[in-house]
Amino acid sequence: MILRSISKHVKDQNWFAVLLDLCIVIFGILIGLQVNDWRLSISNQQKERAYLERMHEDILFSEQFAERTIERRVDGFNKSMALLTQMLNDTDAITGVFESCYVPTYTSIQLSLPSLSSVNELLSTGQAGVLSSSVVRAAALELQQRGKLLARFQDQAVYSISDMSDDFADEIRLEHYIDDNNEFRITTTCDFSSLQANNRFQNALIDNLDTADAFINRNLIPWSEQINHLHELLDETLDLSHQGNQ
Ligand SMILES: [Zn+2]
Repeated sequence: MILRSISKHVKDQNWFAVLLDLCIVIFGILIGLQVNDWRLSISNQQKERAYLERMHEDILFSEQFAERTIERRVDGFNKSMALLTQMLNDTDAITGVFESCYVPTYTSIQLSLPSLSSVNELLSTGQAGVLSSSVVRAAALELQQRGKLLARFQDQAVYSISDMSDDFADEIRLEHYIDDNNEFRITTTCDFSSLQANNRFQNALIDNLDTADAFINRNLIPWSEQINHLHELLDETLDLSHQGNQ
């Protein structure tokens, strides 16, 4: 229609009308581009929101996992430290079976990290740009890096931690129970005086405590803190609040 109008005006040499027709064409194209941009922007915002909501779900799960794991690992570490302190300081204080003989072993530093699939998907498929906040992007990347460091630490620590409950099986006895959450738990008793006199045991205990300390304080807790940090940013972005973190 507009083309027919332009060619008619050219034929009539009505240059003002030609100019007007061209302006109409250009204006139409600009409006079309604008509408397209607007649609794209709405689509990106919806996509971003969907990603952030998925990320929030993953983070909630990981946060609960981290909290429970840290509580157990710190509790185990403190019990092992108490055992060591007692062995070094309270000579002859305990004889016979010792009920709280927790020793850090391979399982103290092993855990399967939650998958955080939304974060991994976003970063591994190069779609991080869908997140408009550079702060959220950086926090997600940092969390992924922390997860990798934690996993790498576990792989390497396998070679530096000894299985004390196996190495000293004659003196250490494992027992199990099912806790209130229906989870399998282990308690350890040992022949205290026999282990106290065993220098090899004390060396192994100190070595394992060193590895457990590095696992908890230099890897597990920083990873957990990064989860909490990303959670705060997501709550802020999605305008969410929870009891206890308001
Ligand atoms: Zn939240």
